[in-house]
Amino acid sequence: MVDLVNKMIRLTGNSINNGLFIGRALHIEVHEHSIERNSIFPEDVDKEISRFLDAIAVVDTEISYDINNTRISDRDLDIIASHRDILHDPELFSMVSTAIREKLQHATVAIQDCFTAIVEKFEALSVESFALRAADYRDVGTRLLNTLTGFSETLPESLGSDKVPIFAEMTPSMVGRLANAKIGAYLSSKGSYNSHASILTRALGLVAIANIGNLKDVVQNDDLLIVDGDEGKLIINPDEETLDYYVQKVQVEELLRQRLEKLKASASLTSDGQKITLYANIGIPEELEGITNLGCDGIGLFRTEFLYLSRQTLPSEDEQYEIYRLMAERMAPTPVTIRTFDLGGDKLAPLGLEGAEENPYLGNRGIRFSLAHHDIFHTQLRAILRASAHGNVRIMFPMIIDVEDFNEAKHIFNHCQEELYSEGVSFNSSIELGAMIEIPSAALEADSLAKACDFLSIGTNDLVQYTLAVDRNNDNVSRYYIQHHPAVLSLIRQTILSAAKFKTPLSVCGEMASLPHYIPLLLGLGVRELSVNPSNYFTVKAIVQKCDHELFQLLSRFDFSGSVQDIEELIYKDLKHYYQI
Ligand code: PEP
Ligand code: MG
Repeated sequence: MVDLVNKMIRLTGNSINNGLFIGRALHIEVHEHSIERNSIFPEDVDKEISRFLDAIAVVDTEISYDINNTRISDRDLDIIASHRDILHDPELFSMVSTAIREKLQHATVAIQDCFTAIVEKFEALSVESFALRAADYRDVGTRLLNTLTGFSETLPESLGSDKVPIFAEMTPSMVGRLANAKIGAYLSSKGSYNSHASILTRALGLVAIANIGNLKDVVQNDDLLIVDGDEGKLIINPDEETLDYYVQKVQVEELLRQRLEKLKASASLTSDGQKITLYANIGIPEELEGITNLGCDGIGLFRTEFLYLSRQTLPSEDEQYEIYRLMAERMAPTPVTIRTFDLGGDKLAPLGLEGAEENPYLGNRGIRFSLAHHDIFHTQLRAILRASAHGNVRIMFPMIIDVEDFNEAKHIFNHCQEELYSEGVSFNSSIELGAMIEIPSAALEADSLAKACDFLSIGTNDLVQYTLAVDRNNDNVSRYYIQHHPAVLSLIRQTILSAAKFKTPLSVCGEMASLPHYIPLLLGLGVRELSVNPSNYFTVKAIVQKCDHELFQLLSRFDFSGSVQDIEELIYKDLKHYYQI
């Protein structure tokens, strides 16, 4: 019998993954290491350094154990495995051992101080990508300290699959443990959507909400919780009516999920038989297995800069080659569209390569960054070209402003081809080159780009940001971030017309292509290729299958020069029956 004595409370946070889960709260206490700070004797220095080395070996074995024994798939485990890079970082080893030797610190103190210094350095940069690094370092540092202090970070026995564990902050290794324990949802006081822990959470299908403040005073162990990941809402001790509503919603979602999965075998055709190509977007190679299970038409966007996310340095040519080759082989004969690094902006400016920029979104971002760092660009292009011998690989350049920009990138690409040719290395000499249309100038010059490129892809996320001059990550101005704004749609239409004129394949790979209410609009405007977020893949397919010639007729008559309200009326009224599934 459900306990409804306590008062119902609703809180809002940031959804880390969609879905609904109903369960009982369980606060998870994180162990704070109490460490003796007295000095060691000089003759004990070697002993402390070898304790540090032993701890590294133990944590390395733990990581191997997690990799081999966890129920999460290989694709997800690479994130945990990336902690090995930190564990075996020679600079970090030298920092800790120097502190032991010169400051006569215990290994535990040296580890705690060095990791804290690195974590604080990353956090002080207040850039999300560095906050991710901070969390990774904290995770590895804690593991080392746990080993040295004999503390085992096991989950409490009372944590069953009916529970919703509550953490101050999540780590990737903890997400792995939760997955093993078959936990369906968790809450964390801190966290960001793009952290490794969050990426793993989505890959594993756990429902999660972060940033809902300190729950210690509000939630008691065993309180009944509704975790609404769709809305980023937490309901504590729901009343009977609310609980009934969510119990039904959980059942409906499960039925919908089962129904959508049945669409795997069916073709992505509109109800009157037009083929709509459905690609998947991929962020980290670990998602590959899930994507191969979708039965999609290929990968329309591989955000390669995410490769940098799980490590401290950019991957070498051979490392990149292995990743791209694996993807090409697994997806063949369907295409894998590899977007060259879109570094800069809010994304992962490599430490030490760029000074801080006042306007990073208008700065050395995307293709500009690659053109300014020939060595990085050259390494990546060589790796992609080598992988092209193993499947259907395409190359796409981000943040192209015009055809000259594209040609400059192509020039370097040609040079890489010549180089590989003279080295006798095999590659696909007719590999396709494409440009992203995500800056208004590129859309306005879509004719010349459509003529010069083998394919185009509209990145609506940035196209909206740059057309409406609204920072895509700034909540204060989110009301101006109107993806269906007539100015944005006009640029999309112009690009569609240019692509059609030169028979250049065109896809949409920004978030609009994954949002149900925009699918009929995009198809009605003439888009025939969508590259979608894997978790929305079957929903998008179901909507495609409902679209028909009436939709195309309706949109061909529609006056897009009207107001935002006119377009909203179209989307939320006239087109609603297409995306309601
Ligand atoms: C886009 O801008 O729409 C896009 C797909 O690129 P990203 O979101 O990686 O900037
Ligand atoms: Mg973009």
